[in-house]
Amino acid sequence: MLFGVVIKSWIAENHKSNRKIGKVKPMGRKFDVIIVGAGAAGMMAGISAARHGASVLILEHMESAGKKILATGNGKCNFTNEKQGTLYYRGKNPAFVLPVFQQFDLEDTLELFQKLGIEPRSKRDGYYYPASGQASAIREVLLMECRYQKIRIAYNVGIRSIHKVENEFIFDTKQGEFQSSTCIIATGGKTAKKTGSDGSGIPYIEGFGHKIIDIVPALVALQGKQSFLPEIAGIRAENRVEIYIENEKIAEETGELQLTEYGVSGIPVFQISRYASYALQEEKEVYVLLDFLPWQTEAETEKMLEERFVTYGNKKSAYEAMIGLFPDKLIKVLLTQSGIVLDLSAKNCSKEKIKELVKTVRHLRVDITGTKGFESAQVTAGGVDTEEINATTMESKLVSGLYFAGEVVDIDGMCGGYNLQWAWSSGWIAGAYAGEGSKQI
Ligand SMILES: Cc1cc2nc3c(=O)[nH]c(=O)nc-3n(C[C@H](O)[C@H](O)[C@H](O)COP(=O)(O)OP(=O)(O)OC[C@H]3O[C@@H](n4cnc5c(N)ncnc54)[C@H](O)[C@@H]3O)c2cc1C
Repeated sequence: MLFGVVIKSWIAENHKSNRKIGKVKPMGRKFDVIIVGAGAAGMMAGISAARHGASVLILEHMESAGKKILATGNGKCNFTNEKQGTLYYRGKNPAFVLPVFQQFDLEDTLELFQKLGIEPRSKRDGYYYPASGQASAIREVLLMECRYQKIRIAYNVGIRSIHKVENEFIFDTKQGEFQSSTCIIATGGKTAKKTGSDGSGIPYIEGFGHKIIDIVPALVALQGKQSFLPEIAGIRAENRVEIYIENEKIAEETGELQLTEYGVSGIPVFQISRYASYALQEEKEVYVLLDFLPWQTEAETEKMLEERFVTYGNKKSAYEAMIGLFPDKLIKVLLTQSGIVLDLSAKNCSKEKIKELVKTVRHLRVDITGTKGFESAQVTAGGVDTEEINATTMESKLVSGLYFAGEVVDIDGMCGGYNLQWAWSSGWIAGAYAGEGSKQI
């Protein structure tokens, strides 16, 4: 902790004093730091390295920077969250994020963005958005700061290879060769390919001898097997979703469930989806249990249904006894799945049948056959093995001067601004140490 605080103040001090440090003028195609990928993490790393006195070039294979930022938070960019902690991160070692956050945390992020012009607005569950409600504002302020810091961004760059020769990184690209003292790889994951993250950074990383933990889509909708799914498509309901792998409960989440033609979606499904992705890859049996009355105990549900069917069910059918509790499409499926005929007289519904209905309402099973894939996922789970990265500096333990930032690392956050927070924090730290490190070479 103390070490973290010391490092943090060292960085903060440098952060302030760096405005005075003169930039090392790039000698032609040679830079102190070259970053691969101009996404959230890459631009943040560039700003940090430049503020630490380094000359910076970012190599981007798309025609513009930060394309994915524009898609975040439904175009509004949920750029961080007031609740923080390892609890919100996944990967082989979620605690890997700690030393990074001890040096650059939520407060630092909000302060930095505020100084860049973003007025943060906290919404439900601590989600932060720019007050303008526009994701484009986040991208714009980052690009403005890149310009102000004289960071160069080479677009449509087409990297052929990256090598380290003695103390220098050599980048062979369609636009010729570039050299740098340190290199940061911030190429993201494999989600939303049209924004530029297509997994093409992985061969460079493997070329340096790094291990990649299997990558799978996360924060993604799940496909289900049951034939009743199209009948209830379009329903949104407060729900507790539990995921079981090989009959063992792995996780549960509560929130707004979305039922679709193909399966289940919505935030609670996204939050548990990474477990389904990995299990399906290993051909394990995966199912979810949907609880449509998560705020009640099962005894309360049973009492309520008995009242609806027996006490107040005079002259009503089983279907009519459920009206006002669930949407009509859902009533039909819940009754059918419980073996209750819709027009059965409610009063004639046996205790056993009501118990069966309680079970269905509280534990409707959907067998999971797949995910909606990288194209509809919000994040990639897996990436560079954190065992091979120094958690304090984000530097490779295998190749000195090589750093990583953002989603390319085997860390994936939960829904709620955690993936961007990881991109900002790991980007800042990688940039700070790579910037400092480049001056010692
Ligand atoms: C639809 C959607 C909504 C999301 N909403 C949120 C949200 O509200 N809040 C949140 O916290 N997170 C959200 N995320 C996740 C978040 O956007 C990412 O985790 C984050 O952008 C990762 O940043 P990054 O810089 O590591 O990677 P990326 O943003 O993917 O950037 C990687 C960059 O590297 C470039 N690149 C890749 N390969 C190469 C190569 N070979 N050569 C050169 N350049 C290369 C890419 O073109 C890209 O510019 C969302 C994601 C999606 C898809």
